[in-house]
Amino acid sequence: MLSPQIDTHGEMLNFLAQTRGHFIGGQWVSGGDVQPINVVNPATGLTIATIESGGAVEIDLAVNAARESFDSGVWSKMAPVERARILFSLADLIEEHAEQIAHLEALDIGVSRAMMHEIGVKLAADQLRYYAGWITKIGGQTINNSRPHASGREFLTYTVKEPIGVVGQIIPWNFPFGMSIGKIAPALAAGCSLVLKPAEEAPLSVSYLAGLIAKTDLPDGVFNLVNGVGRKAGAALARHMDVDKISFTGSTAVGKDILSAAGGNLKKVTLELGGKSPVVILPDADLSEAIPAAARAIFFLNGQNCMAGSRLLVHADIHDAVVKGLVDIAKAMSIGSDLDNAYDIGPLISKRQMTRVLAYIDTGLGEGAELATGGKRVSGLAGYFVQPTIFTNCTPNMRIVREEIFGPVLTVQKFETEDLDEIAGMANDTVFGLSASVWTGNLSKGHLLAGKIKSGQVGINVHAAIDPATPFGGYKQSGWGREFGREGLEPYLETKAVTAYL
Ligand code: NAP
Ligand code: MG
Repeated sequence: MLSPQIDTHGEMLNFLAQTRGHFIGGQWVSGGDVQPINVVNPATGLTIATIESGGAVEIDLAVNAARESFDSGVWSKMAPVERARILFSLADLIEEHAEQIAHLEALDIGVSRAMMHEIGVKLAADQLRYYAGWITKIGGQTINNSRPHASGREFLTYTVKEPIGVVGQIIPWNFPFGMSIGKIAPALAAGCSLVLKPAEEAPLSVSYLAGLIAKTDLPDGVFNLVNGVGRKAGAALARHMDVDKISFTGSTAVGKDILSAAGGNLKKVTLELGGKSPVVILPDADLSEAIPAAARAIFFLNGQNCMAGSRLLVHADIHDAVVKGLVDIAKAMSIGSDLDNAYDIGPLISKRQMTRVLAYIDTGLGEGAELATGGKRVSGLAGYFVQPTIFTNCTPNMRIVREEIFGPVLTVQKFETEDLDEIAGMANDTVFGLSASVWTGNLSKGHLLAGKIKSGQVGINVHAAIDPATPFGGYKQSGWGREFGREGLEPYLETKAVTAYL
């Protein structure tokens, strides 16, 4: 929890007063559009800071700095135990500055400092330590021939793992601090140099991170940060011919743009994209657990969460009880946002996002879904608040059932069958496949259904359990590749096979 002795207000006011530029080659560099980007606190709609809006020129500078540091071997060839020491030291620095980071992140996305402290900062520090631990364990294999060689001679093969090179990383605005650590930790562990572009809506904590990195022994040019908007800075990074790999987290639509931009030099691509994750409640589920969990699954961070359980599939026998329980929870939710108090529902990230979510609610009404609760902007609050909203009588072809809304909007579909293949068919009736959960009192059924669901993550009586050691990523249009765990390290490594006659 937050330590009440530490008052971060003065320090943060100072931080917010300066227009942030870009962190390139170990220095703050100014550049980009004349007009800076306004950083808005979505709880109030007020501008709290400005950042510079970089473009192709700043991306080029940053990629060059990353290239120089990579090719010099100053990081990629540093002794693994030394590289690990530096990442561990960054994790310690992050924990020492947890209050400051939580403060900035809370202002930037409209949540309480305590929430950010626990899920934003603590998890990030642990994730960094997790990958720091891998550095001294990266290595290849020795391989026996599988068949006699034509020459009649035997040969020996061994594989070597090498860092892939210069990496571009683009992140969205939900949990930007944790998201940035989730990307840079495996890249640095592998020995890569990188250029990170945060989202324009929430760039502050990542700039603060650059300041912390500058205090470590990480060589200059290994970590570079370019602030700016996606269609300029982001696009320039994705198409840059000297970037060896791009790792992107964001919407499926932009993910497709990244993919075509990456085609120029066939850079390797990892994509963590959107979702429309099903929460499936079978008739034998313990409803005292399943109902509050289903509410958390959709309403956590106001549904602005890629794993949000936005599609509830519930058996007819328990449908009314589940809907009543969810509506009671939604109606009792506290709505608001300030630094020191936790609310159940906070603001959406921007006016644009609020308008988009309200338009989806109108679409749902027009499609004939029944509004069980919510459906409106919260009156009396200046920020971008939308009521927790539940639609019942939803059918598979409705747009609100098919498209990612990224807001506090749950669709409920009722089913009569107990056939697991049919139930999985409903859960899988989506172009996405990021997360899912199954609620049942019968663990065998839970495992059988988990086996049939096409999704990178399936929870049995739990929704969206995240851990640094557990691979995370999407089937279908929810992405390419995995982050977290050993699998999250692999995309930053090339495998070289070395063969010699014996
Ligand atoms: P977004 O609009 O796709 O933006 C994500 C990032 O891409 C931002 O930094 C954005 O820049 C940048 N960008 C936009 N257009 C670009 C382009 N043409 N080329 C290169 N970069 C570009 O997503 P968002 O609205 O910020 O975030 C919400 C989405 O992220 C949801 O779909 C959600 O499901 C997904 N998400 C996925 C995961 C996961 O792990 N699978 C996690 C969290 C969120 P600017 O915003 O600065 O312009
Ligand atoms: Mg965006």
